[in-house]
Amino acid sequence: MPARTGRQYIEGLRAQEREVWLGGERVRDVTSHPGLAGGVKSIAALYDMQHDPALREVMTCASPTSGEPIGRSFDAPTTREGLEARGRMMLTWARATCGMMGRSPDFMNVSYAAWGAAADFFGEKRAEFGRNIRNYVEYIRENDLTLTHALINLQRSRDASGMFNLEEGTALQVIRETDAGIVVRGARILATLGPISDEIAVYSPRLGRHTENHSPFALHFAIPCGTKGLKFLCRDSFDLGRSHFDHPLGSRFEEMDSIVFFDDVLVPWERVFLLYDVDRLNRTAQVTQSATHSAHQGAAKNLAKCEFVLGLALLMTKALGNGHLAHTEERIGELMLQTELMRGCMRAAEADAAPNQWGVMTPRVVTIESTRNLFMTAYPRMIEILHLLGSSSFLLTPSEADFDGPLKADIEQYLATDTMAAKDRVKLFRLAWDVAGSAFGSRQVLYERFFASDPLTRARIMSTLYDKDEVMDRVRAFLDS
Ligand SMILES: Cc1cc2nc3c(=O)[nH]c(=O)nc-3n(C[C@H](O)[C@H](O)[C@H](O)COP(=O)(O)OP(=O)(O)OC[C@H]3O[C@@H](n4cnc5c(N)ncnc54)[C@H](O)[C@@H]3O)c2cc1C
Repeated sequence: MPARTGRQYIEGLRAQEREVWLGGERVRDVTSHPGLAGGVKSIAALYDMQHDPALREVMTCASPTSGEPIGRSFDAPTTREGLEARGRMMLTWARATCGMMGRSPDFMNVSYAAWGAAADFFGEKRAEFGRNIRNYVEYIRENDLTLTHALINLQRSRDASGMFNLEEGTALQVIRETDAGIVVRGARILATLGPISDEIAVYSPRLGRHTENHSPFALHFAIPCGTKGLKFLCRDSFDLGRSHFDHPLGSRFEEMDSIVFFDDVLVPWERVFLLYDVDRLNRTAQVTQSATHSAHQGAAKNLAKCEFVLGLALLMTKALGNGHLAHTEERIGELMLQTELMRGCMRAAEADAAPNQWGVMTPRVVTIESTRNLFMTAYPRMIEILHLLGSSSFLLTPSEADFDGPLKADIEQYLATDTMAAKDRVKLFRLAWDVAGSAFGSRQVLYERFFASDPLTRARIMSTLYDKDEVMDRVRAFLDS
């Protein structure tokens, strides 16, 4: 099946029964559950864009095996033009969700595209793992499947060493092998999009500081979300069942985060890509450069999100008539700076791209990784700026129903500004609240702080990647002069 439509995505979810729990109840159909259906609809709309005649060229490319159109994020580009085309595709999806669905399917697709190209790395010691990953990448690409992932083992305690404590009975581990595959038990977090994906991928960069070579916690596999023994436990839904007017983002872009329990789950051998090999697991993201490619997807999302917040802030200042005040100009200037920094990093990383050892054209690594580190503090600051610009207007936000109620005349008289009718002002600030104040908006801030790991780990990654000698040599040369 080439690039899917939204309807095919929804049918795929319905066809695969899965164990999803939300609010104490088992969800029978994730596509119609009020807490999940809005997100399903938005992901479906992304798939439909692949069939929009005006966008088809941007969104798809030819399959290397069948020649049929496939989603472009499955492409492992070999040229700079190909990489830029994939960047445009991801930006187009990100803009369609205002940057608010970080885990749109391209996030995982680009990682697996990188792993498919680097199949020899997986097969170096066990040839079957190389074959497995190659076949799997072809399978998800040709069937245009949606993946979630759960990388993090729950920890019962944290110590100052930065070592991740993998407790038996909590962290996910292999408990036995059978002729059919491996049996795994434990829990993982935090599968965003988990309940509404086709497949779940499990790997674990969090073994980064473990030194033993053989560990039952060292795993990389992918299985269907409906696999027996797999259970998804959702947080509260931030889709409150309200109208687009009342809750513009939450009613559309709920991508849902979930804890995943693995209750003696059988992973067939053909779905195992790495096993027990701590060193290989630790090196995967860097050697295959999958992390660089997922950072590229993140950069596109950041840019779309910056543009959206900036546009929103400008409209807020128009509504309130405070755009000409000096402190407003300074704050808007800061939002413009973040936006252009993201655009610049994405552009520079593409312009300075080079083929990696697997022949995949890869964005310049430190430039694209910088966008992740930057956004952990930039996004919370952007939201702080919205708070400072909007103040009480965030709370002068009667519901859509109030505009038809007995206070309609009062609302229309008193909530109008010099530049905006009351209803337009309220609509705008309900959107602003969903970005900066609601549960949906607060989760976005948390997402940007942590989705790409914790700040300490991110700083260590940057330090590892950075060419420190070059800058130290400049100072040494100065000292010697
Ligand atoms: C909205 C959201 C969506 C997410 N989606 C996904 C997903 O789809 N898939 C997925 O796999 N993961 C996902 N994550 C999980 C994310 O990768 C983790 O939250 C992140 O890696 C941090 O891990 P943690 O939550 O266990 O926090 P912790 O490790 O507990 O860290 C909490 C704080 O303590 C600090 N800290 C912890 N240990 C130490 C130490 N030893 N020394 C000093 N400081 C320390 C950290 O720096 C951090 O500031 C998501 C997270 C969020 C918030």
